[in-house]
Amino acid sequence: MPIVEIRITPEELGDFSRIQALACEAAGVAVSTPVQVVRRSLDCRGRRPRYVLRVQVGDLPVVEPSRAFAPKPPTGAPVLIVGAGPGGYFAALGLLEAGFRPIVLERGRDVRSRRRDLKPLYTQGRVDPHSNYCFGEGGAGAYSDGKLYTRVSKRGDPRRVLRLLVEFGASPDILVDAHPHLGSNVLPRIVAAVREAICALGGEVHFGAHVTGLVRRGDAVCGVRLADGSTLEGGGVVLAPGHSARDVFAFLHAHGIAVEPKPFALGVRIEHPQTLVDRMFYGASPRHPGLPPASYRLTHQAKERGVFSFCMCPGGFIVPAATAPGELVLNGMSLAARSAPFANAGIVAEVRFTDVPGVDADPLAMLRFQAEVEQAMFAAGDGTLKAPAQRVPDFLRGVTGAHPGRTSYVPGCFAAPLHELLPPFVTAALREALRAWERRFPGFASSEAKILAVESRTSSPVRIPRDAATQMHPAAPGLFPCGEGAGYAGGIVSAALDGLAAAQAVARYLKK
Ligand SMILES: Cc1cc2nc3c(=O)[nH]c(=O)nc-3n(C[C@H](O)[C@H](O)[C@H](O)COP(=O)(O)OP(=O)(O)OC[C@H]3O[C@@H](n4cnc5c(N)ncnc54)[C@H](O)[C@@H]3O)c2cc1C
Repeated sequence: MPIVEIRITPEELGDFSRIQALACEAAGVAVSTPVQVVRRSLDCRGRRPRYVLRVQVGDLPVVEPSRAFAPKPPTGAPVLIVGAGPGGYFAALGLLEAGFRPIVLERGRDVRSRRRDLKPLYTQGRVDPHSNYCFGEGGAGAYSDGKLYTRVSKRGDPRRVLRLLVEFGASPDILVDAHPHLGSNVLPRIVAAVREAICALGGEVHFGAHVTGLVRRGDAVCGVRLADGSTLEGGGVVLAPGHSARDVFAFLHAHGIAVEPKPFALGVRIEHPQTLVDRMFYGASPRHPGLPPASYRLTHQAKERGVFSFCMCPGGFIVPAATAPGELVLNGMSLAARSAPFANAGIVAEVRFTDVPGVDADPLAMLRFQAEVEQAMFAAGDGTLKAPAQRVPDFLRGVTGAHPGRTSYVPGCFAAPLHELLPPFVTAALREALRAWERRFPGFASSEAKILAVESRTSSPVRIPRDAATQMHPAAPGLFPCGEGAGYAGGIVSAALDGLAAAQAVARYLKK
């Protein structure tokens, strides 16, 4: 059964008999031979975009094993998991497969209630420190673009995560698309289905369970302390609190459990009309109806540091992603259809140890730097979540300029000198990259391009060390740092993979 590669026009994508004919011709078999598309990607490099399909040709189409999730009846002491993001929930699924009972402790609320908690962000500019775009069931990924793409495979097979997502309700298309995405109207349903499975199989999920410390017996970690003063003990603790869990990093440090500073990236959200992005990257607007809204992924090596686009959201929205009052943080999301009129992306520059004073003496120095920039952006405004913003040509020229006009960011924005508000090394690197991208994609830095600040939660500014073999903290047996907050993942799929790997490590530890 050969697999052949064919290239088709957007018009041909919906024409299965044409795809079958082309694939059979490429395989040299009769045109009536059954075929199945196993991979679909879009090539925009030429003058006209083409879909590239990998097609299996033969009698037996590719069949994935019917069940991706194979739980065993749990026995023994429970395993505590801090955080119900992809890292925590996939650790719970992995533990159920290994025959252990997970208890997930989540400071925020269930994914449905969480949606209601997002409203005050828009109506009153008020941030609930336990339930927001980063905290709550589903973690930072629940109300996101739901891009399910990762280049990381050293912690496991990303396809395993995709198959589990399909088992919990995602479209099987994600197994075929080279750059699958779900959309934030689809993700909550899947998150709720994962929780129902965990609970139906003997696990537990506790909301409003804010973990504020650890319980130790000697060096070993055997439980957690909650904000209400109660404690819970278990066979081990998987710590998957995400990149915004500043209080967790602080209590680890206070417990004498080493954490390390980690480089991250910081910058702005850029927004263009989607029609302009279509013109820049497809060469035509309106785009062909068979094409999705165009997206991009850009990198530039500025004189001193790398600059890159981050979490690009075609047809999406810029959202307020702060986790505490008094700070301003932006991120992006989209719905499954990606049909909003704007396209946004983070444009961020590397922040290195040499940029931040005191890193040698203080493992939380990078985190403090990140927080100070977020607070400065908030302080530049009127006490609401309105974002400082600028048209890109004004940013390049170094003038505040007029109000940048309408954007997808619902709390609104105000004209501000972002070239002065951002750290000088970030401004210099972003300017260089924007000029370079304008040369390659005319319009990218035009007056239709607006930037809003600040995009700062690109990854964790802290790493929680762990032993490569046991996946435990070297100084705290029983503690399994996991996911993005611990510094081992950078997205939904990689955090989920890390959760599955953590579950295996816990199982090895407990079986010993
Ligand atoms: C708006 C937005 C859009 C994004 N879009 C994408 C995308 O399209 N694709 C992609 O791959 N990634 C995206 N990301 C990033 C992605 O969401 C994260 O990389 C991923 O969720 C990390 O998973 P995690 O489980 O490690 O941590 P998180 O998802 O951050 O989950 C951590 C959980 O721990 C909980 N927690 C924290 N502290 C405590 C405590 N003390 N006690 C109890 N619970 C605690 C938090 O409430 C949270 O629910 C986006 C992020 C945001 C904010």
